[in-house]
Amino acid sequence: MSTTPLLEIKHLKLSYGGIAAVKGIDFYINAGELVTLIGANGAGKTTTLKVIAGLLKPSAGSIQFLGHAIGGKPAYELAALGIGLVPEGRGVFARMTILENLQMGAYIRQGSQSSESIDQDLEMALTTFPRLRERLFQLAGTLSGGEQQMVAIARAMMAKPKLLLLDEPSMGLAPLMVETIFEVIQNLNQQGMTILLVEQNARLALSMADRAYVMESGAITLSGSADQLFNDDRVREAYLGADAKIKETKET
Ligand code: ATP
Repeated sequence: MSTTPLLEIKHLKLSYGGIAAVKGIDFYINAGELVTLIGANGAGKTTTLKVIAGLLKPSAGSIQFLGHAIGGKPAYELAALGIGLVPEGRGVFARMTILENLQMGAYIRQGSQSSESIDQDLEMALTTFPRLRERLFQLAGTLSGGEQQMVAIARAMMAKPKLLLLDEPSMGLAPLMVETIFEVIQNLNQQGMTILLVEQNARLALSMADRAYVMESGAITLSGSADQLFNDDRVREAYLGADAKIKETKET
């Protein structure tokens, strides 16, 4: 069995002008894992995802993906290599229909793969999100926030990524919609998709992740299995608050 991680990051740094947002972090993700990166506002989580996806160039450090050194490569090359990003705020094409948004997701595969296999994946995305099938020709900009999140995830699925980066998928969604979206994320992972999940809802993220990293002020300050971090006093105090105590009371 290979022990090489799918993604391995070493001493990664990124500064915006003179401001260091990511200060030399190390972490890895094995194939098939669901790993979460949690932390407060401004900790550097989105910046980290953007660097991995090629939207920002690192100031220093290395990123290995599938054995390739990918640090500083442009986003389109990394998408073709198998890195998919569902950005914070979803980034759907508002003036396009749901179908067109999903077709855009498969754009990087056109030419290299048959239209039948793309059609099969469209079918799979619509089976995952029946609500999108009902609204296939509706403009994405007229969808609810939760429906737009579904489009963003389905669009990323259409590119058949080997690593899916999700930035705050629960942001701004009603609790029932959060549940739906997280069920889908968990199912995708159970079907074999490797996922890096950035989330402010630490309780939810830790409840489904295999492992977790805590990021604070640009540095990774804690790491371990999701269970370990869920039971860590520092994590409870800073990120889980009252929810953790409720869970503890129920379990005892
Ligand atoms: P949130 O949970 O609020 O999205 P985050 O952990 O994702 O926060 P980042 O968005 O990565 O944090 O931001 C990390 C730091 O970098 C913050 O101090 C932020 O103000 C700064 N920053 C982010 N983008 C830029 C930019 N384009 N120019 C300058 N500074 C930036």
